[in-house]
Amino acid sequence: MTSLSQLQNVLERARQAPHYAGRFAAASLASLEDWAALPLTTKEDLRQAYPFGLLAVPPRELTSYHESSGTSGQPISSYFTARDWTDVLTRFLRSRVALTQDDMVLVKTPYSLVTTAHQMHAAAQLAGATVVPADNRSHNMPYARVLRLLRDLLITVAWCMPSEALIWAHLARRLGLDPARDFPSLRAFLVAGESLSPARRAAISRAWGGKTVIEDYGSTETGSLAGECVRGRLHLWDDRLHFEVVNGSLVVTPLQREAMPLVRYDLEDEVRLGTQACECGSAAPTLEVLGRRSGRIEIGDQAFYPRELEQAVYEGGAEHGLWFWRARALAPELAAGDGLEIEFYADSQDSDGAGPAIVAQIARRLGVRAKARAVAATDFLPDTLISAEAPMQKPRFVFSTREDWNKSLVYA
Ligand SMILES: [Zn+2]
Repeated sequence: MTSLSQLQNVLERARQAPHYAGRFAAASLASLEDWAALPLTTKEDLRQAYPFGLLAVPPRELTSYHESSGTSGQPISSYFTARDWTDVLTRFLRSRVALTQDDMVLVKTPYSLVTTAHQMHAAAQLAGATVVPADNRSHNMPYARVLRLLRDLLITVAWCMPSEALIWAHLARRLGLDPARDFPSLRAFLVAGESLSPARRAAISRAWGGKTVIEDYGSTETGSLAGECVRGRLHLWDDRLHFEVVNGSLVVTPLQREAMPLVRYDLEDEVRLGTQACECGSAAPTLEVLGRRSGRIEIGDQAFYPRELEQAVYEGGAEHGLWFWRARALAPELAAGDGLEIEFYADSQDSDGAGPAIVAQIARRLGVRAKARAVAATDFLPDTLISAEAPMQKPRFVFSTREDWNKSLVYA
């Protein structure tokens, strides 16, 4: 439970940042009601504050600068002092994945500007583990290389998006490996960055012969906000961050942030909070992330989150070896469509049954009409993704006459 004085401290620090100085000049905080009356900080506010409108310390105190991977327009900046990083890393390390010196951790999320890879990289090192910095999918990190690292280095924990864990299992099989037996050191996938339905989580675990899938929830602006307990529930780190739910959306105020104070930051994720005691013993609220407010799908008179559709699809396909799927509205405009067209890849002996089972489950769960069609695995994952390993190169300036010297600076 956050105290009033903690929030007063946040507000005091926030006033040091140009973006907040005017906004909160006259704000006084005598009660929690006053706090709830302060304006939310939106993503649009952060875009307008690019790059240093939220800076509340002298620039020389910063240890890193980041940006979130926005789809278009102005980026959202995020920056941390050394103490901010300690705050982020120590809460991230509370996850039930419980990293130790014995862990060999594959970091398979992006390093470019976002915080995700850096958070795991530094946290794993803080825990004494060994880091293998593999980065996101890129020209020098095709999947054959990922699988080689997983296997040859005896990786114990992989930090990745849920989709990646499923892709690796499938491609391992295409390469003649058995995900259940050929990676005995791998004990857990720690995943984040995508919504994950229980049914897809089960599909990932099944694909790897029952390995553990552990979820983390956070953002580049804040670092980890919630991590999973031994009972498989996401708990909010509510001793370090103040949480509110405003119009269904999660709003967070980091209590210790120095470099970039955030006052009532609206993450624009629709959530459900649970306050019942969890069997793990933690009193921190539990979190269920439903999806982006803007990502809700409307088909006819039904509205649902992609995660709910994902749940229905994997429930329907579970018995039929479902791996991958995609959906689009039957009508050109998603909002105007009156049904869904699904393509999927399933590989059990009874894969023909997957289509009708998926369609039935979508109707039952969401009240939406659908048609489903099986396609080949290569429709989702072409062979080039497995093997297109371009050797790492550097700029070159001296060539033989037989070589192409147009490549001198074109080395990617
Ligand atoms: Zn718990």
